Amino acid sequence: MQSTITQPMIIAGPCSAESREQVMETARRLAAEGVGIFRAGLWKPRTRPGHFEGVGAAGIEWLAEARAAYGLRIITELNNARNAGRLLEAGVDSIWIGARTATNPFDMQEIADALRGCTLDVYIKNPVAPDPALWLGAVERIERAGIEGRIVAIHRGFCVWGEDVFRNAPVWNIPLWLKEQRPDLPVVCDPSHIAGQARLVPHVARLAMALGLDGLFIESHCDPAAALSDAAQQLTPAEVGNLIRELKLKD
Ligand code: PEP
Ligand code: MN
Repeated sequence: MQSTITQPMIIAGPCSAESREQVMETARRLAAEGVGIFRAGLWKPRTRPGHFEGVGAAGIEWLAEARAAYGLRIITELNNARNAGRLLEAGVDSIWIGARTATNPFDMQEIADALRGCTLDVYIKNPVAPDPALWLGAVERIERAGIEGRIVAIHRGFCVWGEDVFRNAPVWNIPLWLKEQRPDLPVVCDPSHIAGQARLVPHVARLAMALGLDGLFIESHCDPAAALSDAAQQLTPAEVGNLIRELKLKD
């Protein structure tokens, strides 16, 4: 397998945008650690109702402010085709498609149609079930929409029945299979949603980089214990910086 991707990609930021202050503080500290692409979810895909569902479109301006203040590229989750227009208008640099959305070819096709010809980078998480063709199919739908930006796949683990040390079990054969099929397609790892616990995130990140994946997509919050979603798995910006240095992901 010969990858055509050279520089590892590092994307980090909170699970959810919660407030202007939380976005700006986290972005400032991550930028100081050398992170260039800042993630934050606006519409949160909660498996069950009754939890924080995200601030929605109200947070778009916080992301734009973080970009302007700290020179970061920004990425947020596009949850359905109806919201594509507002993210395009707001000038976000990139969007990711969540695991639940990537599971449904009808949703993927609607999103592909809504993004047709745009210049965004589009990152596509693996579907919740370990079905490699469904993941590749989601990638192909976006490719066929003639996106001008980059397309990137994200391995975030799979849902399995029963107790496991991981929240979403990695199946490394699947991202490696994807890289065999498509050496031109960057495949990064989301160690946060695989691990589910902050202390395991660095181990998963090390494994992903050792296996030749193309970068990391990490959850990081300025005050993880106070996070409104995924509190247990978020690293502090300083911990992200340590990981970047340890793995020599930057010069
Ligand atoms: C996220 O990245 O915050 C998220 C909800 O991810 P996933 O779609 O992988 O569950
Ligand atoms: Mn999350």
